[in-house]
Amino acid sequence: MTNLDDMYREVILDHFRSPRGKKPITQPDVASHGHNPACGDELSLALEMADDTVKRVHVDCKGCAISTASGSILAEVIKGRSLEEAKRIAGIVRKMLKGEETEIPDDLGDVEALRGVCNFPVRVKCALLAWVTLIEGLRQYEQGRPADPPSVSTEESE
Ligand code: ZN
Repeated sequence: MTNLDDMYREVILDHFRSPRGKKPITQPDVASHGHNPACGDELSLALEMADDTVKRVHVDCKGCAISTASGSILAEVIKGRSLEEAKRIAGIVRKMLKGEETEIPDDLGDVEALRGVCNFPVRVKCALLAWVTLIEGLRQYEQGRPADPPSVSTEESE
């Protein structure tokens, strides 16, 4: 963490200290679980949808600062988005974290702060966790709501 750009580090730490989306959703429309064996991070994601729009987001992350901050940034950024937008954003962030040349749209809040993580390959999966969990949750949601929340691992999400 100490080598990250100061500005980005502040943003990451702020999300880590007070994660967004903490309030649980009792009857989620989308639910998924992700884990990152490389670091031991566990993350549960729940969304309440209204007319294909993300009305509420709940992220419960038991993990390191990066995974927690990334989940918090996700909660902030996808709230109020359409299903298609949420998918598009998750795709952009995944590309960015994998170090591909990516334009980050201006309206993606603190997503840019995660870019610094690319310089630390061992932490990329920590940052990726929330987004692959979202992608899997939305994929299952579109295929019809599963009885059990799908589970995804950062090891399988290449
Ligand atoms: Zn981690």
